[in-house]
This record gives sequence, C-alpha cells and structure tokens, in this order.
Amino acid sequence: MTMYDRLQEIADRENIIAGVGGAEPFYKLKKRLEGVTVPFTDYSIEERTEPSLTMPDVGSLVAVGLSYNVVYDSIDDGKYRGCISAGAVGRDYHNVVKEKLEIIKNDLLKNHSAMIFSDTGPLVDREVAVRCGLGMAGRNLSIINGKIGGMFFIGYMLTDMVYEKWEAPSVKANTDVCSNCNRCEAACPNNALENGVCNYEKCISYLTQKKGILSYEESRALGRQIYGCDLCQRVCPKNREYKRAYSPYAYPDIEELLNMSNKEFERSYKSTAAGWRGKRTLQRNALIALGNMKADAADILEKFADDSREDIRMAARYSLDRIKER
Ligand code: SF4
Ligand code: SF4
Repeated sequence: MTMYDRLQEIADRENIIAGVGGAEPFYKLKKRLEGVTVPFTDYSIEERTEPSLTMPDVGSLVAVGLSYNVVYDSIDDGKYRGCISAGAVGRDYHNVVKEKLEIIKNDLLKNHSAMIFSDTGPLVDREVAVRCGLGMAGRNLSIINGKIGGMFFIGYMLTDMVYEKWEAPSVKANTDVCSNCNRCEAACPNNALENGVCNYEKCISYLTQKKGILSYEESRALGRQIYGCDLCQRVCPKNREYKRAYSPYAYPDIEELLNMSNKEFERSYKSTAAGWRGKRTLQRNALIALGNMKADAADILEKFADDSREDIRMAARYSLDRIKER
C-alpha cells in the first residue's frame, strides 16, 4: 500500500477528505495577489505563496477538508431570529481540523517534521487544497469536491517528506466544474460575486465580522445575518447531497443574544466559530437585524439607543429609524 493510499484510509475513517501536493511556490497566485488587499491577514505576498519561507526544508503539502454542510430547517416560534452561516454554527472548526491533521502526522509522518495550520496559516488554503487534489474552485469561490461538495473547512500541513514518496496519482483538473450554472451569483443578496471574483467589501460575511460602526448601506446589506453568510453555498447544486445535523445556533434568538451575560456567552456562542469576533460584534449585528426585519421591537432597541459603546448605540439608532421606514 502506498503512503497516499494509507492517507485515504485515514481520511475515510476520520470522515474527512485528504490529498497531497508538491511544495513549489504558487507562482500564478503571486501574480494575482499583487496589488490586491486581503482582509484578516498580516502575511506578505511572499509568505502566502512560497512554502519554503515557512519551512525551509519543506518537501510536500498535505491538505484536509472537513464538511460543515448543516441542515437549515426554518424555525417559526414567534421570536425574532437572526441567522448564522453554516460554517460558524459548529464547534470551533480550527481545533477539529488541527486534530485531524495531528492524527495524520502521528500515523504517517512519525519520523518527519511537520507544521500544521488551520485558517491562520501563511499559505492560501484554497490554493493548497486545489494543488492537493481536494477539488476545483467554483464560481462562488469554494473548492468543490466530487464527494462532499463545496462546504468544507480546509486545513493543511507542511512536511519535509518529499512529494514523490507519497506516490499520489496526478491531480486531474476539472476547469469547468460549474458548467452553465450561475446560481451563486444570482443568489448573492449584495451583488458581491461576479465572474468568480468576490468583492469582499460588499460580501455580507466580511461585513458581519468587520468591527466598528457600519454605514447605512452596509447595515442594510446585512439583512438578518448575525454572523457570516453562505447563500452562495446553500444554492449550489453541488452541496445538495451531503447534509449533517441540525445546529441550535443556526437561527439565534436575537433577544436572548442581546440580553446575554458574558458568562452565558462564554458557555454558548464562544465555543462556536461565530464566537471569535466576540459578543459585542454579534450584538451589533443582532440590533441591525431587528431593523432590517422591520421587527416590532422599538422597546428592545431603545434600551441600546444611548449605550456608551458607539457601534452598539449607532446600530440601535439605525434600526429604530429603519423600522419607521415604510
Ligand atoms: S457569502 Fe453572501 S454576500 Fe458573500 S458572496 Fe456569498 S452570498 Fe454574496
Ligand atoms: S452555484 Fe453553480 S456556479 Fe456557483 S459554485 Fe455552485 S455550481 Fe458553480
């Protein structure tokens, strides 16, 4: 059995997908990144595209994918409910992905050095995933895998094991993974997607994570999203088949979230990926969602209209104005 076959055995057992690729620089990506501002990263273009700057003796890359395709059954219980994207409702995935990579390292790479990353690593994880054969980029920017679709977290590992030792089959690139479908671009509520490129400043997922005061246009674009956005994923036909369980955090009770103590937040949302931006950002978004839902919630909003925190105060005032609009 080859090293690659053993990797696939582990992947099946751990309910993930996995692949391997060479460690040469990502030259094409480097060209694409020049002059582009990328949010939430401090790495330079060189660090993002040259694996050897992170591990000088790197020989190959290992990528894994962990599905987050969650069932979204709407809840109609009379409460004001916001929405949290599928990728953010579960246990903080960074740790789960790292655990899966540790299992691979301890099993296959005992006598090798390896560096494990999940989301915060220097390389562009989508590019690593493509090189390692996990899938091809769809028009909604997700990497689409033939087995589990495009809703999966990506983690990767740099190792000094040379690529040839894996005896991996060559990656067959499917450059037309979307064929004539255009559902994701059509479904994007803020027209952030165009020709396979995302204008992150318009992307609701980015806006829900942005700190501070949101402009009127940004607030309106949020709709009832409290954290993240995944509409371009949910409409994708590639994600229809592979579904997981219901999550209690998918449609958060807005009043409950607004009245939550720090301790209650620690015990609930903090353990999910949506919790990383902190209670305050989620509460700001929850206040905005009330306005965008035109909820009959002036009494709730007025409690925050003179809040000492400017972003909270402005969000409440935005929504008080919004619910008066026809
Ligand atoms: S995450 Fe939401 S806002 Fe961003 S591109 Fe997808 S559908 Fe559009
Ligand atoms: S919705 Fe259609 S166009 Fe968009 S990523 Fe999925 S298959 Fe591709």
